[in-house]
Amino acid sequence: MKEYLKDIFGGFYSLVQGMRVTMAQFFKPTVTVHYPHEALKMTPKFRGHIELVSDPSTGKPICMACKLCEKTCPSHCIIVEGVKREGEKHRSIKEFKLDFTKCSLCGSCVEVCKSQAIRFSRDYNLAGTSKEDFIMDLFKRLEAEQVAEAAQADASPSAKQPEAKPAEQPKTEVR
Ligand code: SF4
Ligand code: SF4
Repeated sequence: MKEYLKDIFGGFYSLVQGMRVTMAQFFKPTVTVHYPHEALKMTPKFRGHIELVSDPSTGKPICMACKLCEKTCPSHCIIVEGVKREGEKHRSIKEFKLDFTKCSLCGSCVEVCKSQAIRFSRDYNLAGTSKEDFIMDLFKRLEAEQVAEAAQADASPSAKQPEAKPAEQPKTEVR
């Protein structure tokens, strides 16, 4: 009987001890990031997939479709297609495909591009359900980003014009 009671009290004591530790931690501020509601700021040296850089004065990609990055990539995951348009000094890109499933983020393409037309993105949030989701057209992606940025700028309150007063409706007689 004595041993039995001893076991009960011992069990109860260890339960109280465990709860004391749990409750002490429960009310402490959390140290983990509450993803996806919170996100860590990426360090400047973080390497996401490569992305095209646009010329701030023209908004167009700096890339001249010289294909140097394509030839340098050890994983053969870049395909660049360019076009020479009339009146332009350099070729312009019309397609810049990246197969991110093969990319080792080695950085050779970024280093070899003397025009600094590509860089590593800060995009760490990639998710997809198939391999095709990671085969990207970086040219189209850049264009889509620019369209989204322009739409966001238009929608910002500072960009909005003062709202025009609604035209007065003619009064209708109530009989
Ligand atoms: S990103 Fe640079 S290296 Fe690659 S095709 Fe364009 S200009 Fe040439
Ligand atoms: S980072 Fe390396 S593997 Fe990835 S696209 Fe550039 S050269 Fe190819």
